[in-house]
Amino acid sequence: MAEVRNPELRIVGGHPVLDLVNTVTPRRPGGREHITSPTALLAWSRRVGLVGAGEARTISAAWRTRSGSAGQALHATLDVRESVYGILAARLADPTPGPVAALEHLTLRWAAATARSTLVAGADRPAEVVVGTDPAFVVPDRLAFAAVELLRAVDPRHVKECPVDEGGCGWLFLDQSRNSSRRWCAMADCGAQAKARKLTERRRAARASTVRAPRR
Ligand SMILES: [Zn+2]
Repeated sequence: MAEVRNPELRIVGGHPVLDLVNTVTPRRPGGREHITSPTALLAWSRRVGLVGAGEARTISAAWRTRSGSAGQALHATLDVRESVYGILAARLADPTPGPVAALEHLTLRWAAATARSTLVAGADRPAEVVVGTDPAFVVPDRLAFAAVELLRAVDPRHVKECPVDEGGCGWLFLDQSRNSSRRWCAMADCGAQAKARKLTERRRAARASTVRAPRR
């Protein structure tokens, strides 16, 4: 797997919520979990730019002050992640899926995030929704909002999956190429590996056919 070569998790989804979905490798049952603790969650959030350095310190302090809140934030985040993945995976499997239970899950997380949000009106600028008035839940709340935004704004046909049956990792990504031709999460990783594998298979097949050349 790519992670053995490169322990740093790649960020290739093209949207923070797709990058969240891609914190399991391969994106299949039994895949490796990258967000294994609240600390790992905070490090990932910093890396994708979801929170700034000052905010990360505030969040850490809130988690320390309120026992259990770090675990709750982690649980909520993973719930948002699996809900979004469930919704998008259902769409990938069937462009017109029936009711998806994951949508209800995300609705609940989004409603909780909304309850912890506030509207700020500036004198000389438009009003603004500030998500995450409770520092302990800033990360899952922002992700729940971003997930809803992603589902509302992005054409589902542009969300693609790195093809597992061809040796890819199952990660989701936003295909922003002009002719929607992107196939792999990252050509340098899954694409190149699949290419190399195909080449080896072709060589093996060629060798086998030489061995089985007609005898006289
Ligand atoms: Zn891939």
